[in-house]
Amino acid sequence: TSANEKAQDCVAYSPEISNFAKENLSILGNLMSALEEGQLSMHYQPKISIKTGEIHGVEALMRWNHPERGNIPPGIFIPRAEQSTLINLITEFALEQAMKQIVEWRENDIHLAIAVNISPRNLLQPGFSDLVLQLLQRYDVSGQFLELEVTEGALMTDIAHSISELSRLANAKITISIDDFGTGYSSLQYLHQLPISLIKIDQSFVRRLPDDKGAIHIVEAAVTLAHKMGMRTIAEGVENQRAYTLLADLGCDIAQGFMISRPLPAAELEKWLAQYKGSAVYAQV
Ligand code: C2E
Ligand code: MG
Ligand code: MG
Ligand code: MG
Repeated sequence: TSANEKAQDCVAYSPEISNFAKENLSILGNLMSALEEGQLSMHYQPKISIKTGEIHGVEALMRWNHPERGNIPPGIFIPRAEQSTLINLITEFALEQAMKQIVEWRENDIHLAIAVNISPRNLLQPGFSDLVLQLLQRYDVSGQFLELEVTEGALMTDIAHSISELSRLANAKITISIDDFGTGYSSLQYLHQLPISLIKIDQSFVRRLPDDKGAIHIVEAAVTLAHKMGMRTIAEGVENQRAYTLLADLGCDIAQGFMISRPLPAAELEKWLAQYKGSAVYAQV
């Protein structure tokens, strides 16, 4: 096949690239069957309001349980899927799992919004907003229960297209948040034109709290900027109480991280919720 020829071509130049290419091809091939054979699943990590302790919602994070290799982290397989159209199937799977989970929880009187991670490529793909709106309709789910996490790079690649796609989604009451904020290169002017309600401050800053002055300034600036634009902020990667307390002092709205809970399978998250309910340990009122 031409893919094999390409991999062989590389050998002449660099064996490392060739190995990488082969590894890439094998991961992508495996991923396709993983999808078909049900090796992919979603875990859910809660996000809580710092002011009230209420649960804001959960983030859906994909897990791949490989029969021989065990757990392969999304940090490995998502970037590879993003290099091919396989990412479209991956995102569709994540969205559909979220719909099913929202419906199942609704039947059990659990009303939680689920945030799904969207790859840059998804947003550029024609008809992406149609796909999302159709899924909501098919599962009879209100847009209020869906949040989409988009990275800065994705938004800035084709700003006009981003504005039109995200506006359609936001009009259906879907929450749009910017993931890993501070690591990309957002034009602040464009940020203002997009229908964004939440800014997720990247964990590379949050995890340096509370002692790193530089990180404190960045978080403080992000919170101020977000509030001036009528948006709220989520700190991701909150690992300890001292960081949490400082985030509360800095006016950050929502927290997510191992200190609150690790990402959990749905059944375990339900147990966590039952225990958490009514507990106001984290509330700073
Ligand atoms: P992300 O969207 O920024 O997700 C946050 C990552 O931080 C998750 O890693 C989560 O498990 C981890 N995390 C949360 N709290 C803490 C903490 O307190 N400390 C530390 N050290 N880590 C924490 P995960 O699950 O390995 O996912 C990595 C990345 O893979 C995600 O980053 C996202 O970019 C991507 N990803 C995961 N699931 C999906 C998916 O369904 N679709 C797409 N397109 N990307 C996904
Ligand atoms: Mg995310
Ligand atoms: Mg993130
Ligand atoms: Mg991240």
